[in-house]
Amino acid sequence: MAWSLSRNARLFALAGGAALSLGNARLGLSQTNGGPAGPRFVVVLDAAHGGEDGGGQVGASGGGTGEAEKTLTLALSVRLRSLLTARGFTVITTREGNVNLTADARAQTANHATASAVGGSACISLHASEAGTGVHIFVSSLAPGGTGRFLPWKTAQSAFIPRSLRLAGTVNSALEHTTVAGGGAIGAAGADSGPIPATLGRAALPGVDSMTCPAVAVEMAPIRGADRRVVTEVTDPEYQTQFVEALASALLAWKTDLETDGPRAGGSQP
Ligand SMILES: [Zn+2]
Repeated sequence: MAWSLSRNARLFALAGGAALSLGNARLGLSQTNGGPAGPRFVVVLDAAHGGEDGGGQVGASGGGTGEAEKTLTLALSVRLRSLLTARGFTVITTREGNVNLTADARAQTANHATASAVGGSACISLHASEAGTGVHIFVSSLAPGGTGRFLPWKTAQSAFIPRSLRLAGTVNSALEHTTVAGGGAIGAAGADSGPIPATLGRAALPGVDSMTCPAVAVEMAPIRGADRRVVTEVTDPEYQTQFVEALASALLAWKTDLETDGPRAGGSQP
């Protein structure tokens, strides 16, 4: 990133497109009247963890060593980025390698990238876990609220909660159209193929809580049978393919909805 914010400046997140002057530092967050138009639609992919923060160890239920969550989230981010780029999205990632990143740095990347989007945006934070089954979709637990150009940094996401919930619903719908081994086994005997089970929840999400864009955290967990044993690991290539394809479909549907309803429905401005 070419600029950094002072400690005091971090108290506010700039929603929308104006440039903000802070002492000598002028932060050109572009897309003001008369300037060049920004990208129509921006997707921010945040591969959670990284560097010294490995996250959890995943894919190890069969007795193997599995792999670090930080490695899996980066692989998912890289795959999803190429799927989305091929579909014409402008994609910004918070990291491209095994690096340390603070929650604030992730939010700064997301907010800077989405401020210039003229048609809409979506921010996806990618996680993986050994707990539970299927895909867990989280929206910030902040209460909806907040308007105007300057939003308190730690709770900036509060202005986007309705749109983030709608984005979560779009991801949930896309997962219903997937097929994965064990997906049909929930509540039934056997390990039939079926859609990836999904759950929706709210949580305090450092990073996401400061994002000024419709944002969800999406966590891959193993697919478990009715006996709770793992049928399909998060490291399973076909499961990962179904997961990233579903996210790409969801984002395409999200973009199509915005083009139908107008940019205000899911844009970067509250
Ligand atoms: Zn995680």
